[in-house]
Formats: sequence, C-alpha cells, structure tokens
Amino acid sequence: MTELFIGGEWVAAKHGRTRRIQCPADGSVVGEVAEATREDTEAAIAAARTAFDAGPWPSTPAMTRGDLLLRVADLLERDKAGYARAESLDTGKRLVESEYDIADVTACFRYFGKLAGQDAGRVVDAGGPDAFSRIVYEPVGVCGLITPWNYPLLQTAWKVAPALAAGNTFVLKPSELTPHTAVMLMRTLTEAGLPAGVGNLVLGAGPEAGAPLSEHPGVDLVSFTGGLATGRAIAAAAAGTVKKVALELGGKNPNVVFADADFETAVDYTLTAVFLHSGQVCSAGARLIVQEELHDALVDEVVRRAAGIRLGGPFDPRAQTGPLISAAHLAKVEQYVEKALAEGAVLRTGGRRPAEPELADGYFYLPTVLDNAPTGGFAVTEESFGPVLTVETFRDEDEAVRLANDTHYGLAGGVFSSDASRAQRVANRLRHGTVWINDYHPYLPQAEWGGFKQSGFGRELGPTGLAEYQEAKHIYQNLRPGPSGWFSS
Ligand code: NAD
Repeated sequence: MTELFIGGEWVAAKHGRTRRIQCPADGSVVGEVAEATREDTEAAIAAARTAFDAGPWPSTPAMTRGDLLLRVADLLERDKAGYARAESLDTGKRLVESEYDIADVTACFRYFGKLAGQDAGRVVDAGGPDAFSRIVYEPVGVCGLITPWNYPLLQTAWKVAPALAAGNTFVLKPSELTPHTAVMLMRTLTEAGLPAGVGNLVLGAGPEAGAPLSEHPGVDLVSFTGGLATGRAIAAAAAGTVKKVALELGGKNPNVVFADADFETAVDYTLTAVFLHSGQVCSAGARLIVQEELHDALVDEVVRRAAGIRLGGPFDPRAQTGPLISAAHLAKVEQYVEKALAEGAVLRTGGRRPAEPELADGYFYLPTVLDNAPTGGFAVTEESFGPVLTVETFRDEDEAVRLANDTHYGLAGGVFSSDASRAQRVANRLRHGTVWINDYHPYLPQAEWGGFKQSGFGRELGPTGLAEYQEAKHIYQNLRPGPSGWFSS
C-alpha cells in the first residue's frame, strides 16, 4: 500500500480510503494507493506553508538548490529501469516509450539544475549616483502542482524541477490513474537531500484531493496540466484568492502538408504525429490539412500503414502502440468517432476496437482515419485524445493558414514543405505555441512549451518556465539619506 507524503512522512489518508490502480493494457492490478480527501490536502498545504515560511529551502543559495536537482538527475539515471517499468504499468504505454520519457525527465532536472542561480537579477538605472536599484527574483511560495495521466512523470518534472530551482515548496497531485512514479519521485527527492516539508504528495481524485490546491489561501500558485474544462474550473476557483495560475491545456493540432513535401517524410510523420501513444498526446497532430493535389496519394498511404499498426501491452516487443488509459476514455473516443461520422466524415480505417482476443481485456482502439471531415465541424474542432486522424484539404497557403488557425486551441502544429521560405512564413503565421517544420513532436527542455488561446497560459520549460515560479522584486536604496522636504512648509 502506498501512502501520502506530507511533511517528510509517509502517512495513510485520514479517512483510510484507498484506490486500486490497474494496468489499462490488461486490467491487471498494479497496486493500491491511499486516496486523499480535502483534509489530507489541507494538511499537505500546511506542511508546505511551514517549510516555506520557516525555511531553510527558500533562502538556500540557488546554486545549491541546483546541485540537489543534479543529484536527482543522477538518481533517476541510476533507477531508470524501475521508473520506466512503473510508468508503463500505470499507463499501459510501451516500455521503450517510458524509457524515452524517463530520459526526458532526467534531462529536465539537469536543465533546471544548471539554470538555477544563473540569473541573479539585475541592476537598473536609479537615475543618479545617490541611489541604487536592483531587481531580484524570489520564490512565489507554496505551489500546487496538478498533473495528468498521459506523461505522468514528465509533466510532473516540468513543474517540480523549476519550482524547486526557484526555492518554492510544493504539494503535488498527480492523476489518480497513474500515481506510482510520483511516489517514486518523492523517495528520490528525499534521497537527494530535499528537506522535510518542501515536497509533499497527495493522491486521489481531482474534486477532492486536487481542488483545495486552487481554492486554499495558503497556496500562492497553482500550475495545472490537463483538460480544458478542468482548467476553466481551476482558474475560476483560483480567482477567489487571486493566486498565480499557469494552465497547460489541450490542443487540436493542425498538421499542414504542402504538395511539395517529401512524400515519405510526410507519410511517416503524419502517422507519428497522431498515433504516437495512441493519440493521447496534448500536441498530437490529429488534424491533417493537406494540399488538394496531394490528398489522394497521401491519405491512401496513411490509411494503408495505419491499418498495419500493431497494438499491444507494454512488454509486447512487437507492439507499436498501446491502449487508451481507461474504459471511460475508450467510451469517449468511441462517441467522438460516432459523432464525426454522423456529421459526414468518411471512415477510411479503424473506427472500432480490435478483434484480437488477447487485446480484449485492455482499452484498445484501432488507429482511425476520418476523411473529408467537415471544416468547422465537431470532429476538427474538438480534441478526441485518441488515435483518430481527421483529414481536410486546402488550395493555397492562405487557406492552409486560415484552416490551421480556425480553432479555439493553440498548442502545436506541423508544416511539411520542401520550400524553406514558405515553411517559415507559415510557421510565423500559425497561432500555436510550438510549430514543427518537416518534423513532429520533438521538444527541448531549453525551449518554452505552452499554448496560445484556450490551450492555456504561462509557459513550461526554458528560462520562462523558471520565471513562472519566481516573483520579481525591485529593491531601491537611497545612498544619501536625508529628508525629502516634500511636506515641509
Ligand atoms: P483532467 O483535466 O481530467 O485531469 C488532470 C488533473 O486534474 C488530474 O490530476 C485530475 O485529478 C485533476 N483534477 C480534475 N478535476 C480537478 C479539480 N476540480 N480541481 C483540481 N484538480 C482536478 O485531464 P486528463 O484527462 O488527466 O488529461 C488529459 C488532458 O490533458 C487532455 O486534454 C490533454 O490535452 C491535456 N494535456 C495537456 C498538456 C500540455 O502540455 N498542454 C500535456 C498533457 C496533457
């Protein structure tokens, strides 16, 4: 049984509730974990508050905090096999993908470990020799960190590493579906020497265990990654105490392919963009927007290859992608496809669960291609978060840009063309936080990540990802103190 981590101690949930975690690939029980209620989360907030207000973490030199993060990276490297296995059991994703994820988690801790203390503030012009003025960066305080199930430890690392680098304390609430690697991370942080109370972990459902993190006056910042509806609720709840909010929400990400793109590259990345991790990627290129004259050749080949993608569990060496996270999510994807077909999209492949008996106990869904999806309709505007590609066509560059921007989301997009100047032009015009040219999915810890429009606000990673967790303070000193005479008669 796995417990909550509050004030440096592993503790059971106050009401003694637990939750069973099952592997989505076959329903096998992975573990049983404590299920926090509001009271537990409030206790965790109190512990983080005490650790922040009493120190010593916020006043520890930033370079020393960075050293701790580098030790965490070394420990993650040492323990990577166990981490990857735990991530795969919780999510059902292939082991090799979890191994990539843990390498990315490690790189994230290294990046923020090295960044800590590099920018110690700046001196600003105080207007003359008799005054001295400087800007310093201080931690925001207690951070509530809420993460989703698709990249459980990676999304956690994007928050925990900069929060610690900046000197904050935190309460982490991972997805109730995938808690195990967050539990392991707390053990790793402790082994690396993080003082008691600086990092706290609550496990459980959002409305109970998570909600206090946006409502409570003892929390100074809430950073959330997850769905749009939850993000709206969190922003509204956080307004009550005017705490800082960062939202990393969903996306309906266009993948624009011009007729002059290298054909093999375009086919290959169209598949990877949408079917990686069975489409459960916030930046999935789920909306193919292809130039009219290339449509038939590209879609025929994408359909042919999508139909051949092998599904399987995390430890099946022949599997190319895995299951959806839960029965509820599978039902949501099924309904999405039904609705898309009802509005006129044409099913070219997939559109159902696989027939193989060995996949029957998992939440598998076949890679699906929906051609001629009506522009402006439900299917091309709403996120399915599953292995479903919609296809639209365009005639010229202006129409491609118009379609790609015709969404309330703005997270990411791709452009495929052999004309470098056109690709750059289109990339500049896309209202999305990340644009890939002749590629899809790479991200870098040193490059900011986040959304335009309703994909959220704030940025993770890069120097801005650290700044999210800092307050800039102006300190002005009069070097020749004396009366100002303002109110003298
Ligand atoms: P979700 O919104 O259902 O849940 C995310 C987290 O919020 C979970 O930990 C959940 O328990 C918690 N939560 C739910 N209700 C809450 C409440 N009222 N108060 C506080 N916490 C609450 O999302 P999900 O299904 O876990 O993840 C899928 C979504 O996440 C997709 O929309 C995807 O696009 C998005 N996502 C975005 C990014 C990004 O970087 N922009 C990355 C990964 C996932």
